[in-house]
Amino acid sequence: MRARTLVACVTSVLLAGLMACSGTTDGGAAGSVAGLPVTHFQSGLRSDAPTPSLDVQNVSDNEADRIATATIADVEDYWSKQLPDDFGVGFQPVSSLLSYDSNGANQQNGCGNTQKNVNAFYCGADDSVAWDRGVLLPTMIKQFGPLSVVTVLAHEFGHAVQFRLQAKAGITRTTPTIVKEQQADCFAGSYYRWVVEGNSRYFTVSTAEGLNAALSSLFLVRDSAGTSAQDRQAHGTAFDRIFAFQLGFEKGPKECAGINMQNLQPRLTERPFDPEDVNGGTIDIDDQTVGLLKESLDAAFAGAKAPAPKIVDGTGACKGGPATPPASYCPANNTVNIDLRALAKLGRPVDQGAEFRGRTDGGRGDFAALSEIASRYALAIQKGVGASLDNANAGLRTACLVGAWAAAANNLTDTKLRLSAGDLDEAISDLLRPDSLVAADVNGKRVDAGFNRVEAMRMGFLQGSSPCSKEYG
Ligand SMILES: [Zn+2]
Repeated sequence: MRARTLVACVTSVLLAGLMACSGTTDGGAAGSVAGLPVTHFQSGLRSDAPTPSLDVQNVSDNEADRIATATIADVEDYWSKQLPDDFGVGFQPVSSLLSYDSNGANQQNGCGNTQKNVNAFYCGADDSVAWDRGVLLPTMIKQFGPLSVVTVLAHEFGHAVQFRLQAKAGITRTTPTIVKEQQADCFAGSYYRWVVEGNSRYFTVSTAEGLNAALSSLFLVRDSAGTSAQDRQAHGTAFDRIFAFQLGFEKGPKECAGINMQNLQPRLTERPFDPEDVNGGTIDIDDQTVGLLKESLDAAFAGAKAPAPKIVDGTGACKGGPATPPASYCPANNTVNIDLRALAKLGRPVDQGAEFRGRTDGGRGDFAALSEIASRYALAIQKGVGASLDNANAGLRTACLVGAWAAAANNLTDTKLRLSAGDLDEAISDLLRPDSLVAADVNGKRVDAGFNRVEAMRMGFLQGSSPCSKEYG
């Protein structure tokens, strides 16, 4: 986020759709995940998983290697059926597999030395997949659980699939990195659906906590904020990557192979920092920022003709009403009560390095804190147009409206707050947390599936507020 110096009047094009919003029925989008039931169980390696018959060079018997090897065996099962079925191409396993310890003895493959290479990668030069079982994989497992390894290696194997498809995936020597990365994330998503549907001999994944873990680990391997999508190394922001993953999950590998620069460009959010952004686009969450936020929200939601709520600094809870600190919407007096100190703490910049090592001070970035306030404000707008506030659809509608506000704050040249690089990823990271308010109803209750929360926010961001009430009526 950054503050702007321009002041001007704003005509809002938002919320035309929400005006038509009427009563509520629960269920619909909240009751399923891309057409599959919402499930809760321990996700990961099956207790009855077979021992993969794969030749992995330098392999150990640690947990990271066991999960990595099972993942390769599993994606090979998946693609050995999918490549012939969807593309008429016979499946060929990768030529070799390599496990290494980036802190241990050096190994080599077609892409060079492994020493100090904290990574997992597909190497096109010798058609191999390699992974760091010493540092990268154990760190990921510790922080995000075993599915993080599955996600990363399914993505890497996606590059091997690309290598096999070539022209059938539109891949040439000049294909930009971001297209290849989006396809690989999409292929990983399509594989995950197959697992979720119970086809895997190795893994089980629930659509609630299981998929949440898969999506959160895409966030972990995102590019640093401020990378341009044209950059050769661009993997995409978490927002862009989750889009690709969900596309594959919902529509399958053919759709993934159809991703190209033309259809990608309009939805891509990755961009370099604006030269006007100071402090890497970071602002403090204080009285002044909250004032700017209020102006931005008032402008974005003016079209709803609903009474705008007051934002007051207090305990973050309503007297005798909802208590969802650090911010609560109080319907009784149309007020958003915030705990500014707690939000300032929450709004501190994300330390990606510390986050990766499992040590953070709780900072989720300025946009995460502002989104939490915006979500409570969005409840006031919903109340103003007669929508319900206390069910799953209210939570998803809230996430959708926060997305619509973020896009408006980004696009209206005369609002005082606008997004900077990395802001959307802060919102996504916040959204996937169990205690996030962004997709929560007035009582702080949220739908279990992060998949649905992200989808709702993205819908608002890409399409504005009209679909928010249609989809989550
Ligand atoms: Zn990649």
